[in-house]
Formats: sequence, structure tokens, C-alpha cells
Amino acid sequence: MRYSKQRTAILDFVRESCSHPTASEVYDGVRTNLPQISLGTVYRNLIQLCEAGMIAAVEVGDGPTRFDRRIDEHQHYRCRSCNKLFDVETPRNSLFTADLESSLPGTLEAYSAMFYGICEACQDRKDDMDSTRERKEPSC
Ligand SMILES: [Zn+2]
Ligand SMILES: [Zn+2]
Repeated sequence: MRYSKQRTAILDFVRESCSHPTASEVYDGVRTNLPQISLGTVYRNLIQLCEAGMIAAVEVGDGPTRFDRRIDEHQHYRCRSCNKLFDVETPRNSLFTADLESSLPGTLEAYSAMFYGICEACQDRKDDMDSTRERKEPSC
């Protein structure tokens, strides 16, 4: 795989981001240093980086594909209010997977799950809607 300056900038941006950015967020991020770059180029490079196993793509159903710096197996939690994606560790040796495996027509090697809810930052925001308290940013 050839590493252009653009591809390196795109890879760096995804690797430094904990928010699972969309292609247009990556585009906004790298455009500051590479004003010539187009959204199409960003998207093409993101797909190629996924195919090369450098980053991962996360399908979120009704929204645009998100890109993930983590390529190891993990799950996601999506906030219904702010649409942020959070990483969730895959439960190991849990009753959940044991139960699941018994109902599968074969062995279980991996699974991909999306959990939904309202994140803490959004819950806080709802609690003190009128206050000017600075909102808490989720940590990586
Ligand atoms: Zn939220
Ligand atoms: Zn992730």
C-alpha cells in the first residue's frame, strides 16, 4: 500500500480521534493542513485503509459509516441523543455468549453488537437544562 501525504494525514486523524468520525468529519479535520483535498479522496482513502486493516468501519444503520481507530474486536454504544459512539469491551465467557452459542447453528467466533441509550453527558445536560454549567465531554 502506497502512503501518500494525504493518506498519512487521514490515518493520523482517525488514530487520534476517539469519537469514531464520519468521512466528512475526517475531511473537515484534514482540510486545515491539506486545503486541496476533496471529500471523495478522503472517502476513497478511508475505504482503502479499512481494506488494508489499518482502521475499521462501523455501520450505524441509519447514519453515515463511522471510522474506528480500534481494529480489535469490540462493541459499540450509541447515544440516541448526541449520536456519539462509545467503545464497549466484548463480554468474555459471560452467560450471554454461552447462552447465545447454544442457540447458534455452529460455533461462535465473533460478534458485533450495537447498544443504545442516553450517554452520561446528555443525561447531565437534561438534568440541568437551565444551568450554565459546562458540559462534561466523554473521555476516550
Ligand atoms: Zn449523548
Ligand atoms: Zn470502536
